[in-house]
Amino acid sequence: MRPEQAGLPRGSDVIVIGGGFHGTSSAFHLARAGAKVTLLEAEYCARHASGVNAGGVRTLGRHHAEIPLARASLDLWHRLPELIGDDGSFVCSGQLQIAETPQELDKLRRRVAELNALGFTHEVIVDAQQVREIAPRLAHHVVGGIWVDDDGHAVPYRAVTAFRHAAQRLGAQFHEATPARTIERVGNQWRVSTPLGVFSAPWLVNAAGAWSGDFAAQAGDAVPMKPGGLMLMITQRVPHFVDPVLGAAGRPLSFKQFANGTVLIGGGLRCGADIVRRHGEVDFLKLSSSAQTVTDLFPHLAGINVVRAWAGVEAFMPDEIPVIGLSRHAPQLVHAFGFSAHGFELGPIGGKIVSELVLEGRSTLPIAPFAVDRFASVAVH
Ligand SMILES: Cc1cc2nc3c(=O)[nH]c(=O)nc-3n(C[C@H](O)[C@H](O)[C@H](O)COP(=O)(O)OP(=O)(O)OC[C@H]3O[C@@H](n4cnc5c(N)ncnc54)[C@H](O)[C@@H]3O)c2cc1C
Repeated sequence: MRPEQAGLPRGSDVIVIGGGFHGTSSAFHLARAGAKVTLLEAEYCARHASGVNAGGVRTLGRHHAEIPLARASLDLWHRLPELIGDDGSFVCSGQLQIAETPQELDKLRRRVAELNALGFTHEVIVDAQQVREIAPRLAHHVVGGIWVDDDGHAVPYRAVTAFRHAAQRLGAQFHEATPARTIERVGNQWRVSTPLGVFSAPWLVNAAGAWSGDFAAQAGDAVPMKPGGLMLMITQRVPHFVDPVLGAAGRPLSFKQFANGTVLIGGGLRCGADIVRRHGEVDFLKLSSSAQTVTDLFPHLAGINVVRAWAGVEAFMPDEIPVIGLSRHAPQLVHAFGFSAHGFELGPIGGKIVSELVLEGRSTLPIAPFAVDRFASVAVH
C-alpha cells in the first residue's frame, strides 16, 4: 500500500527516520529552509533517550572535537524563543564540575589550560571559596572545580516537543507508530518501507538513535555502535539548596534540583538495554552507589527518599563522539546518531548541521571528526 492510499500525504524532499531530538530538530531546520519533510517515528516522539534524559545542557567537559558544535548549540538554546517560538524550558543555571582532591583539581587545571591553548575560554577554574559561593551546601572537602556560567538545563520532553511543534507549523509531516523497516535506493529515490506502506524521497536522514546501526549497515556504512542503557533517579521534594547542575571530576555524577524541590541524580550510570523490546533495565545496586556519592557531597541529604528511577536507551560509539555526516557509500543519505550519553545539548545544532548537509552538501561547522567511516579498520559485529 502506498501512503497516499492510507490518506497520508505523499512526495517529500526528505524522510527523517527517528523522532528523537536529532530527528525532530532536523525536521525543523529542514522545514525552516523550505524542504518538504516526512518524519517517521516507530513509537512516539521523544519516547527514548531524547525524552527521558537528565536534561543537562552542558558544554563543560566535552571532547575537543565536540566543543565548536556544543558552543554553537548553546547559542541556539539561548535563542530558542526567536528560533522556535518557545524557550524549550531552558534555564541558564551554569554547570559546575567539582574536584574532591588536589590531584583532581590539577587534572582540571591541565584541561582548562589545554582548552585555552586551543582558543576555548568557556571553562573556568574556580577555587574552594568560589565553589562554595556557587553551591553553599557542598561538603567542605571539595577543593575547587570548573565552572561554565552559560550552561544550564531543560526538561527534555518539553524541549523536543517544542521543536516538533515548530517543525509542524512549518509543514513537516510527523508519523508516529510508523517504524521504518527497510531502506532501499531505487533510481534517485530512497524507498522506506513501513507498516503504512512505502515512503519515498530523494534524501534520507538516519536519526534512529540506538537503532540507527541497522540503517547504516543497510546503506553499506556499518559502524561499531553499541546500544546501552543509562539510568536516572529522582528524589522527594526538599527545600531549595542548589541552582547549577553539578558533576564530579572523580566519579560519575550529574545532579540538579528542580524548581519543585525534587533532585535528579544521574551521570553516565550505565545499565543493560533490551534493544528488541526497546527499553533500558534499571540496576538498583548501581543506583545505590550513586546515591552514596550525592550524600558524600551534600551531607544534609542523608536519608532523602528516592521516589522514581528509570533507564533510557542510548547509542554509544567506541570513541564516545557521534556520527554526523553524509553516507560514504549511499547517495543523499545523512547519518546523525551515536551521541554516547551527551546528545541532548547538541539537539538544536544537530538538526541544523543535517539540514546544511542535505541542502548545501556541507556544514559550516567542523564535522570531519564525526565521519561515519572513521572506524573503517574496526571489525563490526
Ligand atoms: C538517562 C539518560 C540521561 C542523559 N542525560 C543527558 C544529559 O543530561 N545531557 C545530554 O546532552 N545528553 C544526555 N543524554 C543523551 C541524550 O539523551 C541522547 O544523546 C540524545 O537524546 C539522542 O538523541 P537521538 O535523537 O539521537 O536519539 P533518540 O532520542 O533515541 O531518538 C531516536 C528515535 O528513533 C526512533 N526509532 C528507532 N528505530 C526506528 C525505526 N525503525 N523507525 C522509526 N523510528 C525509529 C526511536 O523510537 C526514537 O524515538 C542522556 C541519555 C539518557 C538515556
